[in-house]
Amino acid sequence: MPKIIHYRHKCIGCNICYEKQPDYWRLSKKDGKATLLNAVEKKGIYILQIPEFAAALTRTIAQDCPVNIIKVI
Ligand code: SF4
Repeated sequence: MPKIIHYRHKCIGCNICYEKQPDYWRLSKKDGKATLLNAVEKKGIYILQIPEFAAALTRTIAQDCPVNIIKVI
């Protein structure tokens, strides 16, 4: 299954990910950064397995992220 990798500390809170894929993202009211819902955190990097059908949209979002901190592997 594909995985989303989110380098959250570099997020600038532009909200594109949440607008395009609200099932997976929220904008934190605490620090204004995007949170990848249900992700596992390892050393400040957030990882979430996603079904194959969701990967294409997430790849598009990764391209749109202005600071290039979303990867799909
Ligand atoms: S698209 Fe990128 S910079 Fe914008 S809120 Fe999402 S992770 Fe943060």
